[in-house]
This record gives sequence, C-alpha cells and structure tokens, in this order.
Amino acid sequence: MSIRLENVSFSYLQNTPMSQAALRDVSLQIEDGEFIGLIGPTGSGKSTLIQHFNGLLKPDSGKVYVDGVDLTLKDTQLRLIRQKVGMVFQYPEHQLFGETVLEDVGFGPRNGGLPEEEVTLRVKEALAYVGLDYEALKDQSPFELSGGQKRRVAIAGVLAMRPSVLVLDEPTAGLDPAGREEILAEIKALHDQGDITVVLVTHSMEDIARFASRLIVMEQGRIALDGTPLKVFGQAQRLKEMGLGVPEITDLMYELKAHGLDVKTDILTVADAEAEIIRVLGRGCDK
Ligand code: ADP
Ligand code: MG
Repeated sequence: MSIRLENVSFSYLQNTPMSQAALRDVSLQIEDGEFIGLIGPTGSGKSTLIQHFNGLLKPDSGKVYVDGVDLTLKDTQLRLIRQKVGMVFQYPEHQLFGETVLEDVGFGPRNGGLPEEEVTLRVKEALAYVGLDYEALKDQSPFELSGGQKRRVAIAGVLAMRPSVLVLDEPTAGLDPAGREEILAEIKALHDQGDITVVLVTHSMEDIARFASRLIVMEQGRIALDGTPLKVFGQAQRLKEMGLGVPEITDLMYELKAHGLDVKTDILTVADAEAEIIRVLGRGCDK
C-alpha cells in the first residue's frame, strides 16, 4: 500500500491569531513494504504528518493519496482507509477501554461486523504478534496489566484490523530498556514476516539505525533529510544543528577520527565499528 503526499501544508487553529504552520509544503512518497523511521525535534511536525496518512487531519492545501485514492476529496470513505492504515498513537494505553483484553483488542473487527469466531481469531493473532498469550489474558482487565503489557494490548488492537500500513508514534516512550527492546523486536518481526509497511516515529537514533531502511527527518514542518540511515547519519553536523544526534557508535567513530584515527564514520552497528577499528589498527601494525 503506497502513500503519497503532494505539497501538503497544514496549520492548527487556522484563522485565529494562534495559527501556526505545522506542515509546510511537504511532498513524500512511501512505498509498499518500506520500514521508515520518522525523526525530528519536538514540534517539528511528525505527529501532524502521520495523521495525514489516514485522513485524521486534512491538509489546508495539497493532496494525500493512499493507493491512489485521494483522501482530500469530500466523498472519500475514510473507514476503509483507517482500517488499512493502522495508527498507534503516543501512549496508546490511555485509549484502552474494554472490560477484558478480548473485548478491547477485538473492538475494531467486531465493530466492522465480523462474526465472533473471526474476531477471536484476529485477537489471538494480534496478541501473538506482540508476544502476549491469548488464553492467559483474554478475560483479564487491560487496566490490571503491567505498563508494557498495556502498551502491547493497545498495539494489538490496531493489529487486529490487519492493517497494510502500521504507523507508530513513539511506541517505546516511557518504557524501560527491556520493554523497549521487546516491542521493537516485535515490530521488526511483524514487518519482516507479514508484508506490512511500517512508519515508526522515534526519538531514539539507536533504535532507528538498526531497524529502518529509510529515515525521514522533519524540521519546522518540512522534510529536512530523507534517505538511507547511512546517508542521513552521514550528515552528523546538520543533525546536530537540529538538536538531533547520531547513534552512539557512529558518534564514537567521529570521535576517533577527530583524534587522528583514520576510520570510516559511516558506521551504524557495534559489529561494523569493531571490524573497522581492527582494520585500521591492523594496517597501522603492518607499517
Ligand atoms: P512533533 O510530533 O514532531 O513533536 P507536532 O506535529 O506535534 O510535532 O507539532 C507540530 C507543531 O504544531 C508544533 O508547533 C505544535 O506546537 C503544533 N501543534 C501540535 N498539535 C497541536 C494542536 N492540537 N493544537 C495547536 N497546535 C498544535
Ligand atoms: Mg509528536
């Protein structure tokens, strides 16, 4: 499922003195099967941008197409689009409401008119994707679960709709490192197994360096950088100016280079860093 934005501009509180441009002339094409990391300083427009992907927000000017369907037209049915472009908001656990996990996760499919048997199937499948056991949890209140489990139940609620595109707004915010790691691994597995397109908004350069095939960097409502992680993290100075960083391991390579070790800096993983340092040191010994 592809998403295309053409010259999209958007302001909140339009026609008031408070009006402020949140998106400025954004054009963007997302292809089927991509894993996109969306980064940028706070207030740069990330959350505003993703809410245009399923018609939750409509541009003041410009066009949004999902699989060729123009979301900005008045008579476009957004129901189907919202089912196909699943959106996991920040702190999605705040939107839990069901008395049981089964009721909560099954809400979308049930509401869509699927028979209870199919709903159960979808709930099982969705819980499995986020590493939760259906039998153990189905009758429990989602409110009595741990923080990490609540978050996963909320994500499962979106997955139960079997979206083609999964958009997650800072899904690991506020979780401990182990919880973060698990959720990211689950999202990665979901992307790799099913053919689902993922757009992941995050603050963590480490996370995104490992998972995304493409990074989009927002700055003041515009797309500032767009490319492979290697290409984007190659712009360390530019990222620094925006108040963003590079992964720690990349930063280390820049440090080594600044101190006179002739290493490459286009490195995103510890394994590659190790190999590169050994290569350079080994070369030194041969001399
Ligand atoms: P990000 O997700 O990158 O932090 P946002 O998309 O939330 O950025 O915000 C972009 C701009 O729009 C910011 O200037 C922010 O203050 C403003 N903004 C976001 N949400 C609202 C809102 N509901 N009402 C008014 N202004 C908003
Ligand atoms: Mg945001």
